Amino acid sequence: MRACLLIIPVCFLAACNTAPPKNMAERKAAAEARPLNMHPTDIAGFQQLATRFNSLISLPKLETAPGDIEHAVTNTISRAEAALDAIATCAHEKQTFGNTIAALDDLSYDIGLTASRLSLIKETSTNAVLREAATQGVKKLSEWAVGLDYREDVYRAVNTYAKTLPKLTGEDDKLLREVLRDYRRAGLEMPKAQRDEVEQLRKELTKLTTDFESNITKVQHPVKFTRAELEGVPESFLNSPGVKTGDDEFTVMANVTFHVLTVMENARRETTRKKLAGIQSNLARAENVPLLQQILALRDRIARKLGYATWADYVIEPKMAKTAAGAQDFLVKLNAGLQPKFAAELEEYRLLKAKDVGDPQARLNVWDWRYYSNQLKKEKYTVDAEQLRAYFPYEKALKGMFDIYQHIFGLRFQELDAPEKWVEGLQLFGVTDSETDEPLGLFYLDMFPREGKFNHFAQFGIIEGKRLPGGQYQRPTVALVCNFPPPSADAPSLLQHSDVETLFHEFGHALHSILTRAKFSRFAGTSVPRDFVEAPSQMLENWVWDKKVLDSFAADYRDPSKKIPAEIIAKLKVAKLATVATFYRRQLSFALLDLALHTQVRDGEQQDVVKISNDILSNVFLPVPEDTAFVAYFGHLMGYDAGYYGYAWADAISADMATVFEKSSHGYQDTKAGRRLREEIYAVGDSRDAKVSIEKFLGREQSIEPFLKTLGIGGK
Ligand SMILES: [Zn+2]
Repeated sequence: MRACLLIIPVCFLAACNTAPPKNMAERKAAAEARPLNMHPTDIAGFQQLATRFNSLISLPKLETAPGDIEHAVTNTISRAEAALDAIATCAHEKQTFGNTIAALDDLSYDIGLTASRLSLIKETSTNAVLREAATQGVKKLSEWAVGLDYREDVYRAVNTYAKTLPKLTGEDDKLLREVLRDYRRAGLEMPKAQRDEVEQLRKELTKLTTDFESNITKVQHPVKFTRAELEGVPESFLNSPGVKTGDDEFTVMANVTFHVLTVMENARRETTRKKLAGIQSNLARAENVPLLQQILALRDRIARKLGYATWADYVIEPKMAKTAAGAQDFLVKLNAGLQPKFAAELEEYRLLKAKDVGDPQARLNVWDWRYYSNQLKKEKYTVDAEQLRAYFPYEKALKGMFDIYQHIFGLRFQELDAPEKWVEGLQLFGVTDSETDEPLGLFYLDMFPREGKFNHFAQFGIIEGKRLPGGQYQRPTVALVCNFPPPSADAPSLLQHSDVETLFHEFGHALHSILTRAKFSRFAGTSVPRDFVEAPSQMLENWVWDKKVLDSFAADYRDPSKKIPAEIIAKLKVAKLATVATFYRRQLSFALLDLALHTQVRDGEQQDVVKISNDILSNVFLPVPEDTAFVAYFGHLMGYDAGYYGYAWADAISADMATVFEKSSHGYQDTKAGRRLREEIYAVGDSRDAKVSIEKFLGREQSIEPFLKTLGIGGK
């Protein structure tokens, strides 16, 4: 997760009159003259070691009072505006790449530092007042940043420089091209009147999308059932607060996901499931269907004014898929590939239903699949998740993961004394290259839940990597903010297998950030296209399904001589595959309807958005009743519009990348493949096209076949 929500392009520092670079040679010589501890355990020693490599290791200085947060925001904004003014007013003949284009990256880096720091406070501070102040600070900064795209004077300066046709290469060239592309996407190339119109349409769009989202949040729909109607639903749910509302009355909220899932997965009676599914797929219908119609028309209008064929083409342009057709082709291929396995899975559920209802011809409906896939898992593939926890005490899992990543990527992680901690128990580590002792960055671990803390699992960038204007390289600092089960009175923190998978995944993002060598922060670390960013981390999830990897650290904490039995791992894998085509076909139905809505619904034409979506849901997944309108409640259409395809897209890349390790005789411990991942993916970030990086890592073109194989299609 990127903490900074700012829209680039932007920039920094008194552009025309940059201070002369400090004398690096002198500084380096001074650093080298001092005797150095090559394996420091304190932050000062680690920072000193970094200077030898002409790089900078920094800790964030977190604000401790609401007033400081306000100051930070105000100062950041005024520094940024001064820098923008300097770019805009620089005389043509004095313009250089550094003071005009790189200056934009310097400026956005500076804003990002403040935004990331405040986001971290917002999500981790133990002080509620400070969290609120940081929330307001982030909001103020984001709102201000929206206007950055529209600084016409800055755009003119950039354009004047671009017209000199500077001979740029590599990352510099990419930066200029992308800055120009962003201005074009914001409409800056159009005459003022047209641009104002687009800006007006965008404002309208923002209002409508906010309304759509708040209708989803607002909707409440209680559905009352008797105990008999809820036969099969766990007692713990029926007795939970708010559910038991009368003697024989239970209230299920159709707008609360876990309520719906619990009933759909467990209720034996088809009438109950059908009723609840029907209500859920009509939530917010009256308000949101007309809104969606307007939103899609507006998006189409904006996209065409900006010179794109469709909204999907506009949204996908900066991503790996590049065009709507690119995304569509992928989805269609995957859909076809999944067909045989999907059909087989559906037939398995149908047979369970046939037996259940005593009708060999029983039909499997859209309200049945959750129930029967759950039955299937219970009957055929039970693995006791609780029992598995004994093999994964947190400390051992963490150390096991460290050992593996240090080995394959050629790194060393050293715990350092953190001078300041935002919470007791916070740990700080330095990352160094194991061959050269070069310090590469820092990471914090904030791993257990507490009140008011971010309640999911994520990597937060705090300081991004960047070549600073003075020539030094600022190495990154990140934090893993997680919520693993805390230790209890009589046992250490014991993770589920899925928690260990999450740990390997999230730490992958940290490595992606820390191992960067990109020159500009815009391209550093995880700042890669959104349909690619998850792929390397998804790939690392494979590690925890490998017996050799697991045996290197997983052992029963009560008797460490006991490893996880091979048959349990095998069973876990079979269970994972049993319903995987159902999962992906449902995902694909969402992705395809998202693309269809953003390519087929045109401004000025009356198209039925419900029919378009329902037809796709019915064809790709399971037939939906005509009187339902799933799209009215599909929140992804707002923040992730024309982007849903990205989930499966990244999964396909991840599966393909994993084959490099799988084919090696060292498997997931292969150091050559690890080094290649480090050099070709992590280090380059977005400084070159993601497709090129993937091909360099694979040593060939990317293919969808390995993904299909991991789904149990085509054998392995
Ligand atoms: Zn992730």
